[in-house]
Amino acid sequence: METKYEVKHSEVLGRYLVAAKNLRAGEVILSDRPFVLGPSSDSSFVCFNCYRPLINKFFVCKKCAVAPICPGDGCPDELTKWHVQTECDYLREVKLNKGLNPIQMVPNVGSQLPFRAMLRRDKTVKEWEQFMMLETHLDKKRDSSMLDYYENTVKFIDLIGLIKNESDSELVRKICAAIDVNSFEVRGPPIPGIGCAEVLRGVYLQAALLAHDCTPNTQIAINDNNVLVCNATTDIKKGDVIYYNYTDPLKGTAIRQQHLSIGKYFQCTCKRCCDVTELGSFISSALCPACKTGYASKSGDVWECHSCKNKVDDSVLGYKVQCCSDKLASINKKDEKELEEYIRNVSLVLAPSHYLLLDAKQRLAGVLRDAIHREPKPTKKMMRRKLELCRELLAVLEILCTGMNRTKAITMYELHASIQQLGKKLFDAREINAQKYCDELIESEKHLKRSIEMLLIEPGNSPEGELCSRALEEYRILKDTRSKLLENINEEGKVYITEVDDESLNDVD
Ligand SMILES: [Zn+2]
Ligand SMILES: [Zn+2]
Ligand SMILES: [Zn+2]
Ligand SMILES: [Zn+2]
Repeated sequence: METKYEVKHSEVLGRYLVAAKNLRAGEVILSDRPFVLGPSSDSSFVCFNCYRPLINKFFVCKKCAVAPICPGDGCPDELTKWHVQTECDYLREVKLNKGLNPIQMVPNVGSQLPFRAMLRRDKTVKEWEQFMMLETHLDKKRDSSMLDYYENTVKFIDLIGLIKNESDSELVRKICAAIDVNSFEVRGPPIPGIGCAEVLRGVYLQAALLAHDCTPNTQIAINDNNVLVCNATTDIKKGDVIYYNYTDPLKGTAIRQQHLSIGKYFQCTCKRCCDVTELGSFISSALCPACKTGYASKSGDVWECHSCKNKVDDSVLGYKVQCCSDKLASINKKDEKELEEYIRNVSLVLAPSHYLLLDAKQRLAGVLRDAIHREPKPTKKMMRRKLELCRELLAVLEILCTGMNRTKAITMYELHASIQQLGKKLFDAREINAQKYCDELIESEKHLKRSIEMLLIEPGNSPEGELCSRALEEYRILKDTRSKLLENINEEGKVYITEVDDESLNDVD
């Protein structure tokens, strides 16, 4: 693949990537295999070879008699095997010379990844050099609790015989830190039938150089073969910095900053982070207690209303917001009634697009979606409510996630489904006529089309990729339903008039 990016360096960003040519939205910028991939420090026990969870029992590798692996039929053929020959030979030596016991591997799942990185030292010179150049922020960690985990890893790697002197111990700490700062979460292989999988971490040497911005111009996806693909989500001009968002866009600035400072050791100063309204989304704002209609945002220790300029001390309003947050943690988030009650109550304190409300609304939309699928006769009320929630979520996503975005695509898909389901229900009950139904289908189709455009970049074997295939099929059916409906309207001699303007009709076809 031709190079679409260049590596640059600056004091502020460290090493980072810029576009080497003009890039179009959707275009693949880079595709990266993991340098190392494995369980994280809090993973449960997994197979040393294929990373499937080991629930009650395990076998050990026949050759080295050390590595714990899948019992029964062993590791499935289609999965990547991580217990490679050199590692097996190495562990066999250690077993023979030092009597290493497989049981000693069990409590050290989190040290597997640093161990595998250690084994790659001197083997893959260029990649190893790149790995060693990654940011570690090790000096900032010297007195954090992370160090316990690092020291345990040093002990484990010493047990395995890879530590000859103090500089080797320091190297292990550096490896741990580089993995902590630079790894991406990767879903491990699931156990067939049960479906449970461990969250793994992978270090991707090119993708690790992506600079952070809370309004990024890329999105990444990691497919079942653990390949990371980074796509442009907006057009990017030659020379522009390529940004990725390492945080959740549907969280407020304080939470995003906390996440970045713990995980990545820096303060984001992007446009969104510097704006108390968060680009006018008011995702961290409260309802003004004075005018009751304006939104108040926190700045320092004071919340100020953007409408009436009334000021409230953080000890008062901040406390109320915190109560809303505590309450969300305590309710049953799969229960429609509890969610509705929560939304009703906190709407008296928070701005309608506050992230706590969005969280509850997103969950409620999911609960309603499942209920609509499950129930033989879902009610109009349920459908209307889901439709309303999807519209509210989408309005915020349009502000915060410019260009293509996975969450936006899924929300649009749900919006299309809601419009279509409700339209059909009303039409079947003769509450709307064929023309009105047709208009509803046109709107539904418009959202579905945009959703598909964004989902097309997802890997085929991911849940989003599967949604894309389904959406394409539904798009075909939807167009078909609409044209049949149009035929009927025309046959009945009625003139078809649509409220939708020409431009959006073009958009549909
Ligand atoms: Zn296995
Ligand atoms: Zn082995
Ligand atoms: Zn930011
Ligand atoms: Zn006010």
